[in-house]
Amino acid sequence: MLDGPNELHLVEKPVPVPKRAEVLVRIDAVAICATDLEIIEMGTPALIEGGPPFHKNFTPGHEYMGTVAALGPGVDEYRVGERVTVEIHAGCGQCKRCRQGMYTSCHNYGLNYGNVDKGHRANGFTTDGGFAEYAINNINTLSRVPDDMSDEEATLVVTAGTSMYGLTEVGGLVAGESVVVTGPGPIGLLAVAVAKALGASPVILSGTRDARLDIGRKLGADRVVNIKKESLVSVVKEMTGRGADYVIECAGTETAINEATQMTNRGGKICLAAFPHEPVLADIGALVKNNIYVYGIRGEGKSATRRAMALMAAKRFDATLIHTHTFPLAELPTALDYARNRTDDAIKVVVKMHGSEMRSRKESTR
Ligand SMILES: [Zn+2]
Ligand SMILES: [Zn+2]
Repeated sequence: MLDGPNELHLVEKPVPVPKRAEVLVRIDAVAICATDLEIIEMGTPALIEGGPPFHKNFTPGHEYMGTVAALGPGVDEYRVGERVTVEIHAGCGQCKRCRQGMYTSCHNYGLNYGNVDKGHRANGFTTDGGFAEYAINNINTLSRVPDDMSDEEATLVVTAGTSMYGLTEVGGLVAGESVVVTGPGPIGLLAVAVAKALGASPVILSGTRDARLDIGRKLGADRVVNIKKESLVSVVKEMTGRGADYVIECAGTETAINEATQMTNRGGKICLAAFPHEPVLADIGALVKNNIYVYGIRGEGKSATRRAMALMAAKRFDATLIHTHTFPLAELPTALDYARNRTDDAIKVVVKMHGSEMRSRKESTR
C-alpha cells in the first residue's frame, strides 16, 4: 500500500470480489515499470478519488500475470486455474472514446469510486494494482498464457502491447516500411522486436548505452546508433534516402523529438510513446511543411496486448532478453531500487509472488 511519496507498506487487505465481466486473478509475477516508480514518488499519472494516490490505501503495480482464482457473475469466457496476463486499462464501455475502441483514452478515467462509479479500471493507476496477492480484472484485459511461456515472460506482454499499440496507431502492418525507434528502454526495445516481427525494414534503434543497443540488435534492429558517437539523423537519411516512414519516439527528450521531425520523411508518421517531464520546444513548422503526422499514445490500447501475445506465443521474438532480475515479494523495495538505479544494468525487474526464490540476476540470455 502506498502511503506518502516513496512510502510503501506491506498490509493485509480483504480479497476483492469480482463483479459482472470481471475475474479475480491470483498474481504470480509482476514486472516493475518506470511509471510505477513515478507513481510511487510523484503520484501522477495515478488518479485515486479524483486526486493524488497518497494515503488512500492504494496498491500500485500494473505489469502482472497470474492464475484465474474466481469468476464474477456471468463470466464463462475463462475458467478457474487458467494462466492469464493482463493489460492495464478497462474503459467504462459507455463514453465516446470507449465506443470508438479507444478505451485507454476513456473519458471516465479515474471515475471508479463512490457515487460516480463509471466502471472504469486502470489497475495500478486508478484502481488497486499488482504489488499484491490478488487483483480484479475485466475479462477484456486478459490474455491466456501458453503453457510453455514462463511467468516472467508473460509479465512483459503488456510492454510489448504498448509498443504494438504505437505501431498500430502509426501504421498497422508495417512490412517493407522503415522504422526508427529512439530510446532503448523496455518499450523501445520491444518496439524494435514488434516492428521487425511485422516485417519493417530497415529497423534502426538509437540510444546512449551500448549494452542496451546490443540487446536491440538481438531483438531485430538492422542498425543501432549510439548517439554519443554518431549522428542518428545522418544514418537514417543515408539508409532510407528520404527519411524514415515511422519514428517511434521512446526517449522523451527535446533532442529526440526534434530529431524525429528531421528524420521522418514527407507524409511520414511519428509516435510519441514517452512522457517528457518538461514542455518541449518543437519545430512545428517542419511538421506542417512536410505533412508529418504525430500521434501521442496512452497505454496499450486497441487490444494490442493480444496481438503482442500472438507474436510472443509464436516465438517471433524473445522478450525475455529485456528481463534481467527476479526478486521475491518480500524484497519489493530492493527490486524497486534496482529498477530505479538500473543497478547491475537492470532493465526489467520481475517480482515473484510465490515460492522462495532467492534474488537472482538472470543466468543467461537465450
Ligand atoms: Zn508499465
Ligand atoms: Zn469510457
